[in-house]
Amino acid sequence: AKAELDRHVCYYEQEMDEAARQRRAMGKDLWQAVENGDFHLVFQVQKSVTTDAVTGYEVLLRWDRPGHGMVPPSEFIPVAEECGAINAIGAWVLHHACREAATWPEPHKIAVNVSGLQLAQLELVDLVKMVLDESGLAPSRLELEVTETAIIADRKRALAVLNAIKALGVSIAIDDFGTGYSSLDTLRSFPFDKIKLDRSFMVEVGRDDQAKAIVRAILALGKSLSIPVLAEGVETVEQMDVLRAEGCTEAQGFLLGRPGRIDWTAMPGRLLMA
Ligand code: C2E
Ligand code: CA
Ligand code: CA
Ligand code: CA
Repeated sequence: AKAELDRHVCYYEQEMDEAARQRRAMGKDLWQAVENGDFHLVFQVQKSVTTDAVTGYEVLLRWDRPGHGMVPPSEFIPVAEECGAINAIGAWVLHHACREAATWPEPHKIAVNVSGLQLAQLELVDLVKMVLDESGLAPSRLELEVTETAIIADRKRALAVLNAIKALGVSIAIDDFGTGYSSLDTLRSFPFDKIKLDRSFMVEVGRDDQAKAIVRAILALGKSLSIPVLAEGVETVEQMDVLRAEGCTEAQGFLLGRPGRIDWTAMPGRLLMA
């Protein structure tokens, strides 16, 4: 039995080594990608539930890894955090997102995801300031999306950083709300301008009364704190109907638009102007 166990442990260690080796290789490629600019950004529309008007666009990062093809951010962001490339990548995203949005024919807001490691650094404030200066983007057009997991690491520091960024006129959304470590205390102590209700709640909302009750409770919470709630991952008309009935403010999801490049010529406003 001992030999059997040893064999398992050894096999397990080999697998660990292989996973670690792959992460190291990916980390190296990520640093290279920062140098080469092998990233690009896509945008996903956010809309008002009541008027259907565009309220903003979430910025999502894409990486075409040489020899591997597109790697989803859920795979490479954790590696970037581990190998230290996340700050350089986060800076790249902020620069390019603001520079691009500043050229748009419509002054829509952009929502940029910020990693917890970025949030733990006071330099993030300087970076945001610099990027706004350089791009000329109005601060009111920039929103940062942070997760509660990100805040947990160092609450005091995170609060100081977020307050300083808010003082620039930039807004802050709490992302993936209702998952992980969400606590009501965080909502109370942090200056959030928006709550992004996690996609996991949408999945069941069309068919399950309990899921609907939770969504209703979070919407009520947002209302009583005067923080608008955006529902993510809206894929069906039924989900949209529930959100409308329950008084949700904003929505985002495949039903409203997939992440992609924005075709400005397809905008009614643009056509009228042309
Ligand atoms: P997230 O911030 O929750 O972003 C929303 C994710 O949900 C996106 O996946 C989006 O494509 C996907 N999504 C949107 N609508 C729907 C829908 O109706 N159904 C389904 N099934 N999915 C939907 P994506 O682009 O793969 O990004 C995954 C995660 O990677 C993001 O989750 C975010 O945490 C992270 N991420 C993406 N870009 C960045 C970035 O620039 N910086 C950082 N730090 N993280 C990023
Ligand atoms: Ca997000
Ligand atoms: Ca989210
Ligand atoms: Ca999510």
